[in-house]
Amino acid sequence: MTNSLGTALVTGASEGIGAVYADRLARRGYNLVLVARSAEKLAALAASLGDATGRTVEVLQADLTNPADLGRVEARLGAEPAIDLLVNNAGFSTVSAFADLTSTQVSAILDLNVTALARLAWAATGPMANRGKGTVINIGSVVSVAPLPNAALYGATKAFVLTLTQALEAELGSKGLRFQAVLPGATRTNLWAKSGLPVEHLPQEIVMETDAMVDAALAGFDQGEVVTIPALVDVDGWNQFETARLALNGKLSSAQPASRYLA
Ligand code: NAP
Repeated sequence: MTNSLGTALVTGASEGIGAVYADRLARRGYNLVLVARSAEKLAALAASLGDATGRTVEVLQADLTNPADLGRVEARLGAEPAIDLLVNNAGFSTVSAFADLTSTQVSAILDLNVTALARLAWAATGPMANRGKGTVINIGSVVSVAPLPNAALYGATKAFVLTLTQALEAELGSKGLRFQAVLPGATRTNLWAKSGLPVEHLPQEIVMETDAMVDAALAGFDQGEVVTIPALVDVDGWNQFETARLALNGKLSSAQPASRYLA
């Protein structure tokens, strides 16, 4: 068994992308804390990963849209053994016209994709900053940079994930912490069926297998990327986009409106 790299807490670990992260991180040498609502699935994964890797695997059943449960996960992030890596992965989507969402769905998407993700990043980064080390991987989506109809709210929550990650890297990157936003394209998980559009209904040439997506995201992490887009072939396009965005810094606030707005 390799030496422990510390402890990683993975949200949404019961299936899909989070379950693959749990597998890969255990094999890399992390002990794990697995978070999701499905206790039985988490227990089964914990047993199989513990057997396969010899790592310690804790299960923390929680509905991250429930304030008391969210508080318990926050508390774990500040407890011992310390959390060295947070994978903020749990997320939810509904394929629907914005006006057709129910108010309950609007709140549920925001509670999980925004509030829980931000609260957990906040709870993790305080102790990490005190120790001068730690990593937060936030799972976003390509819809954060390519907003789509019928995914308006979901895309906006993922834009939040991207912006939060980039800002935290700017704020805490020089203090020993690392941040990565992963922007998957369509990935073969049950998220699609739950959202109302089974993944089989997508053009299969745009659907990546979950193992391949997570392995690519971890390769991007190993290469030091802050933003990783596993499916993007033309990384120059992203780099130009970022260069153009950063070039606007210092030009976006002024005492005077731009001349084109003056009568
Ligand atoms: P998934 O297969 O549906 O898995 C979602 C995970 O989140 C499950 O473990 C689920 O477990 C957990 N979860 C859902 N609601 C929760 C809640 N209220 N509290 C705690 N855990 C909860 O989805 P996935 O495709 O792996 O998605 C993972 C992340 O990738 C999400 O943030 C998603 O937006 C993002 N993403 C996915 C795709 C894609 O094409 N699949 C593309 C871009 C981004 P329980 O049901 O047991 O709670």
